[in-house]
Amino acid sequence: MNVYDSNRIIDVLKGSEYFPTDSPEKATLILINTCHIREKAAEKLYSDLGRYHVYKQKRKRNGEDSIIAVAGCVGQAEGEQVFSRAPFVDIVVGPQSYHELPSLLDRAISQNRRGFRETRELAIQFPKEKKFDYLPKVRANGFSAFVTIQEGCDKFCTFCVVPYTRGAEYSRPFHEVLEEANTLVSQGVREITLLGQNVNAYHGHQKNGSVNSIKLAGLLRELHKIKDLEVIRYTTSHPRDMTDDLIIAHGELEKLAPFLHLPVQSGSDRILKKMNRKHTISEYLDVVDKLVKARPELKLSSDFIVGFPSETDTDFADTLKLVNDLDIIQAYSFKFSARPGTPASLDLDQVPEEKKTERLKELQELIGKKQIKFNNSCIGSRLSVLLDRPGRKKGQLSGRTPYMQAAHVDASGEYLGKFVELKVTEAYRNSLGGVVEKSIKEKEKLFQEGEVI
Ligand code: SF4
Repeated sequence: MNVYDSNRIIDVLKGSEYFPTDSPEKATLILINTCHIREKAAEKLYSDLGRYHVYKQKRKRNGEDSIIAVAGCVGQAEGEQVFSRAPFVDIVVGPQSYHELPSLLDRAISQNRRGFRETRELAIQFPKEKKFDYLPKVRANGFSAFVTIQEGCDKFCTFCVVPYTRGAEYSRPFHEVLEEANTLVSQGVREITLLGQNVNAYHGHQKNGSVNSIKLAGLLRELHKIKDLEVIRYTTSHPRDMTDDLIIAHGELEKLAPFLHLPVQSGSDRILKKMNRKHTISEYLDVVDKLVKARPELKLSSDFIVGFPSETDTDFADTLKLVNDLDIIQAYSFKFSARPGTPASLDLDQVPEEKKTERLKELQELIGKKQIKFNNSCIGSRLSVLLDRPGRKKGQLSGRTPYMQAAHVDASGEYLGKFVELKVTEAYRNSLGGVVEKSIKEKEKLFQEGEVI
């Protein structure tokens, strides 16, 4: 979501004559979009700020303006504290207020010019008006795009800062999402990922004022009708919101990728209860079972937290068992990180750091083995991949398989932005390599001409 937000911030600022640069030392504005989900990410902000302060001082000596702004969830959570720890920061703006950036910038620049030593513009309220109403029209930047459809969360898992930093659950109106998707597709986008902290809780209002909102399954069905849109994904889901209509949609909508990120966090019912996840392992497994029945080729990824307060060796063994039993092909796993203000941070039964490290290593080894096993099983198969960007090496293009594996292939520029049939010849832990047999369009043409392929 921060990638989406950063792009929207660029859109907002383009209207104020700012444009992106790769040289922070020459920038008139350095804006850091931050994440507060883990302590490490928040601390990184302050070390980065130290570096950017040097650039700012240098520009000041040369009589040049420069503004440093902190956006995103660290700004939201720490507010004034950012100014205390880094007094040279001019603007702190939360994730629900970044549409206010042009006016915040105007004020900060004018105060700087009037010689105020410390400009402090703070925008961390949750405004009544929704920022989406104030953002400029979206512009495609490539062939894949994110579309935020939902923000915030009302679930209050005891380890998570999202309900405090992003606020209450909010769904963008149905027609607004459709319009944004249609615009992106008309500009060349072929693959859309719908975003939300709790994306499958989506319930967007309709334009006609009907009291019945449209849920995620309904939205997916409408998006599925967009002619040149070829792949739809969504993330991140909560197991409790995997409703039957959504599961049925997985079986019926072929453009919906056969891959779902469905966080479970722990394999222990006792820990899930302490986390306030509001589901048990058997309920999670039921959802997975229904999904696989609806779409047999569906594969999963998940999130895991190890060392949640009071987690015992038995609880952790339950997590390893769950990973073993599930058809998980990749997963994000982290040591529990106490986030200020969350109930779990106050729990006195914290797991020692060394124990967390040990458990994380064991879990990641297991996840790694499953990931490699799945990637190896793809060798020899043919997967449809949208080659949407230049690869790391010269003459290479890259994209994602239906299962979100990164794929790198030797292919000429004419294939950029096209779906190809990739014959997989190499598998690594985090990516696949292969050869382009034909673009999907060429293949369809040959099929229409009667050639057996
Ligand atoms: S459902 Fe997700 S976003 Fe909401 S509180 Fe739990 S972990 Fe955070």
